[in-house]
Amino acid sequence: MFGSRWRLCHLLGIPISVDASWLIILALLTLSLSNGYPSTVHEFFPGTLHQLAAYDYWIMGLATALGFFACILLHELGHAVVARAQGMPIRGITLFLFGGVAEIEGEPRSASNEFFMAIAGPVVSLVLGVLFCAMALTGRAALPLPIAVVLGYLGVLNLVVLAFNLIPAFPLDGGRVLRSIFWGATGNLKKSTRWAAFIGQLFAWLLIARGIVFFFGGDWLNGIWMGLIGIFLNNAAKTGYQQVLIRQALQNEPVRQFMNPEPISVPPTITVLQWVEDYVYRFHRKTFPVIADGRLVGCITTRALAELPRSEWERRTVEDLMLRDLAPLTIAPDTDALDALTQMQRNQVSRLLVTQDGHLVGIVSLKDLLRFLNLKLELHQNDDERI
Ligand SMILES: [Zn+2]
Repeated sequence: MFGSRWRLCHLLGIPISVDASWLIILALLTLSLSNGYPSTVHEFFPGTLHQLAAYDYWIMGLATALGFFACILLHELGHAVVARAQGMPIRGITLFLFGGVAEIEGEPRSASNEFFMAIAGPVVSLVLGVLFCAMALTGRAALPLPIAVVLGYLGVLNLVVLAFNLIPAFPLDGGRVLRSIFWGATGNLKKSTRWAAFIGQLFAWLLIARGIVFFFGGDWLNGIWMGLIGIFLNNAAKTGYQQVLIRQALQNEPVRQFMNPEPISVPPTITVLQWVEDYVYRFHRKTFPVIADGRLVGCITTRALAELPRSEWERRTVEDLMLRDLAPLTIAPDTDALDALTQMQRNQVSRLLVTQDGHLVGIVSLKDLLRFLNLKLELHQNDDERI
C-alpha cells in the first residue's frame, strides 16, 4: 500500500510479506490493547486483571496483536491453499493496514471454485475462534490468568474477523460467496460481479456515512477509521468489477491481432549515437528489437541511456547496451491478450516482442492493447445493461 514491503518467509511454499502500513496497525493495536482492555474481555474474565504491572499489559498487548496477525495469516493461507488446489497460481500473502491479502493470479474459473476459495478463510477464522475461546475457558484454572485472557481475546478477535468478512459486500469474503451464488444461478460472471460490487459499494457508503456521524459526534478516531475502511472497500469493489470487464474483453483475443507486424529493428553493430539519431528521434520509440542475421539477439531501450554518459555514445555500440535476457520481454503470437497484459504488469514494461521459433514476428504495446480494450468495452457497453 505504501510501496515498501518486506519478505518474511515462505509458508507451504507461499511467500509471506508485510507492507510498511502494517507496522501502523500493529502499533495501534498494541497501544489500545495495553491501555485498557475492551469490555468484551471483562465480560469473559470479570474484573480480575487489576493487579498486574504496567509492562505486563504491554507484553500481553503485543502478544495479542502478534497472535492476531498470525491468525489473519492463517485465514489468508486458507484462501491461498484452496486456490492453489484449484490450479490458480499464488503470488504471495501480504499483511497490510486493513489485515491481509492473498494475491491470487487470475479469476476463479467456476462458481464452485470461487465459493470454496472464498469460504476457506472464514472457516479458518471460525475454527481458530472456537479453539481459542475453548482453550481460554477450559484452561482458566490451570493457566496463568494473563495467558488465559490473551487466548480468550484472540478467540473473540477471530470471531469478529469472521463476522466482518461474512458481510455480503464484494470484495469481502461474504461478497465473494454471494457473487459465486449469483454466478452459479445465472451463469453470468459479469452481471454477478456487478450486483455483488453494487452491494459492496452500498455497504462502503454506509460505513463512510457512519464514520462522518461518529467524527462529528466527538469520536473522531473511530470516525476516521470507519471512513478509511469505507473508502478502501468502495475502491476495491469498483476495481473488482473493472477487472472482470477487462478480463472478459481481453480473454481469447490472441496477441497477433494487436501486434505491429513490421516492427523497426536495429543492427547490433551501430553506435549508440547512431541509434539515438537515426532511430529514437526519427521513429519516436523507446524500445527497439536488435536483429542480427535475421534472428532476434537482444532488445535496446532508452532506459539504458540513463547510465551512459553522453561522451560515450559515439564509442559504444548497441550490442554493448542491449538486454540479452529476453524471456520477460517476449511472447508467442497465439498468447491471450490478457496474459500479455499480466506479463507487462509483472515486468513493468509497456512493449513485448512477439516471437516464433526465435524470429521476431511483431511487437505489441500497452497502448495498442488499451485502445482495443476501450473500443470493445464501448461496443459491448449495452450488451447487458438491463440487469
Ligand atoms: Zn478472507
